Amino acid sequence: MTDRYAVFGNPVGHSKSPRIHALFAAQTGQDLSYQAVLAVKDGFPAALQAFIAAAGGPAGGANVTLPFKEEAFRLATRRTPRAEAAGAVNTLSFEAGAISGDNTDGAGLVQDLKNNLGCDPAGRRILLLGAGGAARGVILPLLLENPAELVITNRSEEAAARLALEFSRLPGCAVAVKPDASSFPGLAGRAFDLVINATSAGLSGAVLPLPDSIFAPGCVAYEMVYGRQTPFMDQAHAAGARVGDGLGMLVEQAAEAFFVWRGVRPQTAPVLAALKE
Ligand code: NDP
Repeated sequence: MTDRYAVFGNPVGHSKSPRIHALFAAQTGQDLSYQAVLAVKDGFPAALQAFIAAAGGPAGGANVTLPFKEEAFRLATRRTPRAEAAGAVNTLSFEAGAISGDNTDGAGLVQDLKNNLGCDPAGRRILLLGAGGAARGVILPLLLENPAELVITNRSEEAAARLALEFSRLPGCAVAVKPDASSFPGLAGRAFDLVINATSAGLSGAVLPLPDSIFAPGCVAYEMVYGRQTPFMDQAHAAGARVGDGLGMLVEQAAEAFFVWRGVRPQTAPVLAALKE
């Protein structure tokens, strides 16, 4: 019987996940269906249970997008270390009597950097802009790549400091995660090899008051927002950085979820190319 998967969110109509997973399934010959499910704000647990209980095939798993990632974290009966570190779950696997929670966003970013942008985080000076859920989710996977340093800056400085403190206590973490105490303009004179914009500023076209000096020669500037040209991308390009957007991260996190569910790793390049068309 066809295994059923879905992405839960609100809104969810815009989600590219059904198309991405349909392409992965066709490419790998996996027999599965994947749909988008709109859950009302307080109705995510009920919608999830209804999906699991519905007739018509075994429910294999689900992706979870805004605003339900933290709720999915709480609903999961067991969680992977990267989900624990992220404090959020974007991938659920249904097993007999258990719901496993994982977070593939950070792995998706790292895969996109390495595979599609030729940017290995190892040894790089990394600046992470933002301290929300997306920033939190990528810190552990980035640290596991052994960067030279990881600095977190956020509009609200306390949030950056809290996040840096939390991750600096990770056992076995060789790299000190440092908050930049003076927020964006205070970065003047500092230089980084990889600048990751994990703020949502680009969604509203807001300009981050960043000094051009942060983009070292050969720098890669990564904008997590996708589907639009943002002021961050414009500034980074003008400052000589190589610029990538979050579409590759979206496809790579989906590939990682597909691997978690099916044990098969799909090729992402043709799917990324299809989405860009
Ligand atoms: P959150 O709402 O949790 O966090 C938003 C962050 O953006 C905070 O750090 C906030 O700072 C900052 N911010 C918002 N507006 C501004 C502004 N005008 N100037 C400066 N900073 C600002 O969102 P998420 O962390 O969940 O998501 C962040 C972005 O990442 C979203 O745009 C999302 O689309 C994208 N994303 C992309 C993914 C992909 O696969 N490509 C996956 C996940 C997320 P403050 O704390 O001061 O409010």
